[in-house]
Amino acid sequence: MTLVDPALRATRTTCPYCGVGCGVLATPDGSGGAAISGDPSHPANFGRLCSKGSALGETLGLEGRLLYPMIRCSKGTMERVAWTDALDHVAHRFRHIIARDGPNAVAFYLSGQLLTEDYYVANKLMKGFVGSANVDTNSRLCMSSSVAGHRRAFGADTVPGCYQDLDEADLLVLVGSNAAWCHPVLFQRMLANKQTRGARIVVIDPRRTETAGDADLFLGLKPGTDTALFSGLLVQLADSGALDSGYIERHTSGFEEALARARNIAGSIGATALATGLSEPEVAEFFRMFVQTQRVVTLYSQGVNQSAQGTDKVNAILNCHLATARIGKPGASPFSLTGQPNAMGGREVGGLANQLAAHMGFTPPDIDRVRRFWKAPRIATHEGLKAVQMFEAIGRGEIKALWVIGTNPAVSLPDADAARAALKKLDLFVISENVRSNDTVRSGAHVLLPAQAWGEKSGTVTNSERRISRQRAFLTPPGEARPDWWIVSEVAKRLGFGAAFDFKSAADVFREHAGLSGFENAGSRDFDIGALTSLSDEAFDALEPVLWPMRPGESEPQPRFFADGRFFAHDHRARFIAPEIPALRSETTAGRPLRLNTGRIRDQWHTMTRTGLSPRLGQHLPEPFVEVHPADAIRFGVADGGFARVVTDYGQCILKVVVSERQQRGMLFAPIHWSEANASAARVGALVAPFADPFSGQPESKATPASITPYEYVFRGFALSRVPLQLPPQPWWARVTVNGGYGYLLADNADLARWQSWFGSVAGGELAEYRDFGGGVFRAASFVEDRIEACLFVGPARDAGDWNAVKTLFAADSLSDDQRRMLLSGKSADGLASAGPIVCACFGVGRTTICDAVAAGAGSAAEIGARLKAGTNCGSCIPELKRLIAQAGAAGDEQRRLARAAN
Ligand code: SF4
Repeated sequence: MTLVDPALRATRTTCPYCGVGCGVLATPDGSGGAAISGDPSHPANFGRLCSKGSALGETLGLEGRLLYPMIRCSKGTMERVAWTDALDHVAHRFRHIIARDGPNAVAFYLSGQLLTEDYYVANKLMKGFVGSANVDTNSRLCMSSSVAGHRRAFGADTVPGCYQDLDEADLLVLVGSNAAWCHPVLFQRMLANKQTRGARIVVIDPRRTETAGDADLFLGLKPGTDTALFSGLLVQLADSGALDSGYIERHTSGFEEALARARNIAGSIGATALATGLSEPEVAEFFRMFVQTQRVVTLYSQGVNQSAQGTDKVNAILNCHLATARIGKPGASPFSLTGQPNAMGGREVGGLANQLAAHMGFTPPDIDRVRRFWKAPRIATHEGLKAVQMFEAIGRGEIKALWVIGTNPAVSLPDADAARAALKKLDLFVISENVRSNDTVRSGAHVLLPAQAWGEKSGTVTNSERRISRQRAFLTPPGEARPDWWIVSEVAKRLGFGAAFDFKSAADVFREHAGLSGFENAGSRDFDIGALTSLSDEAFDALEPVLWPMRPGESEPQPRFFADGRFFAHDHRARFIAPEIPALRSETTAGRPLRLNTGRIRDQWHTMTRTGLSPRLGQHLPEPFVEVHPADAIRFGVADGGFARVVTDYGQCILKVVVSERQQRGMLFAPIHWSEANASAARVGALVAPFADPFSGQPESKATPASITPYEYVFRGFALSRVPLQLPPQPWWARVTVNGGYGYLLADNADLARWQSWFGSVAGGELAEYRDFGGGVFRAASFVEDRIEACLFVGPARDAGDWNAVKTLFAADSLSDDQRRMLLSGKSADGLASAGPIVCACFGVGRTTICDAVAAGAGSAAEIGARLKAGTNCGSCIPELKRLIAQAGAAGDEQRRLARAAN
């Protein structure tokens, strides 16, 4: 593999979104953009990309970028300063606060989006030279329960398997994972195994997600009961003779206690059914499949991790794999799916407050070893504060200086309003960022440092299977943007640590990171890439994707761990863990009768600072919503397509209602992506309880007691504009990027005259209006020559205008006379029905068009693809196509049943 494919002139790099870690070919267009395709030679994806990865080329614009350092001046405004001044200021203020209040009065909050080299330098500065372990990361919210579970069971944070196991398994068990939307390329790989080898898929989730559509068995268990299900499974494995007693005897400890606890929690199929809310036949079928299949991979993700009992859930799963020795063998392993592109790299360097460095902890030998390697003058000797604790300490005034690098905690933390209030108390609040403004920046930042973005920066990331890949630069960094490792190193030099931070390049940092991993290792620690310590700059540039460990002297990497029964505890044995009796941390009450689950949607990533730039990705689910079971919708008086206020003890949001049987009764689901930057009232993090797991510190993001009530708006509508709009105060709105500009979906109770006057004040060019105030309708457009500059459609819900049809006209460079006349009708100019909400982002195929094709006889995703092309590029929408086909089938069955009954 080479850095640049000479035939294509494409740079080989890695996708910046999820933990699948797909290889990307980026071909710059010379104007700041690039054509994007999947890298056929990358072993994570073999050329495939999902909808998000495919749209990366639409996210490279410089709009909203932070281009130079800024400091808040005495008048309270942010002023541009030179890099030297910004770095001097940050170092001076850190030094002052450390001298005054001690090293634990300062903290870094990092990100799973950082490159390993950025992470390494920040971790080294804080833990080795400032002398505090207050370094934590948004990965705490993502997979820290898996880390804690691994460390308890294996003695190290080791992912035992690799992606090849997904091709070779006979049974794939997905627990708390909507892989169809959150790890789409890996999910396609699992489906390929199902199609070619007949692997069966079990999906365990309180929500019937798109992933469940392809399951041979779906278990819609009650929230928080995964531990009970896997405890019941351990009992079943023991009682049916499926244990590997020799492996248990030779390589593990604690089995009897764990089994006794499992019997206590769920000692039979009946007890498991009772504890989980599943039926006995469902439980029995799952147990039968697991017991009878040697090649089983259990994949778990945020539904397991984001829980106040997340570590116990992980260990309940690991117990079943250890008990059967189905670990680290081809097609047989537990497998933690990481959410973020470099959560694993962060774990490798130790960028979590309860790790020291390079998979070493705070034991005296590890502290001594790292101290000697770094020549660290004041190394941290105990764990620091994990994310939730860290922000609570900021709120109490104990942490006085915070440096946030590459993340948006004012949106993503639980109890996010409290986190935002805490940020305003800081004496020093530094942010390294790509964007000029986001909710965290607006929470009182004192210093903004412009960091390089994806496509500009260079270094390494590690995916879910321990594969290190290069992220390579293919664009010139804009303005004065710099690599994060450089920014932190410059501050370190100004703090007096120049000799330890004299890095000249990302390759320099990587070599030191590799050196530390191999230092006094000799197989005693899992993470070892010592063989890469002496890479030349050229070899680093050309580094192929490689699995770790890469121990010195070994020519081939080791793809799997633990089949030989050698673990990383001092006695080399794995530990069975007896989990606590499962119980959610909070009770529902008469005032909060429901539980709020939060998560991702298919086409957005985190707080949308990158995916929100893509018109293609904005088409799928453009509005923030809450999903409600039909029975709960009736009970609480909310209607599909209407609005609802969702309230918890921590905050409230107003969201569009989606009534769906995919949602379990008693549960709500709301996506996490919207912030104050792109919606009026949809920061879902503000609703989430700050309860955290006692071992991992990971917050429970999926079970906050909540209430829902209808919220009425008289008017609905939308605005489209070539430039961002300042909307009048009060309305509900959500912003989405559209082809040619910005779209705002609106709802309001103010009178129409206010909208008329507002549009007159923001629209330039030639104005056209349609006004029926008596009927509650106002529509207006402004034109420059034959192009729409801006338009506004407001009306009652049934008559607000067709968003998709008007959006199409807005995207055009010029309108014909007919189109111009039709525009204010709010219907499509050719008189055709709207395509409906977009399902296939790649080809812009809408739900109505797909349903019409199904009604006309398309009975499979392949047939829809043949007729409409939908699903034939990235494949991310195929699960949704299958669901629409199934729904049409069910509706047809119902019609036939009614017809028979009528006869
Ligand atoms: S699955 Fe999609 S988001 Fe994840 S790494 Fe691959 S292309 Fe990127």
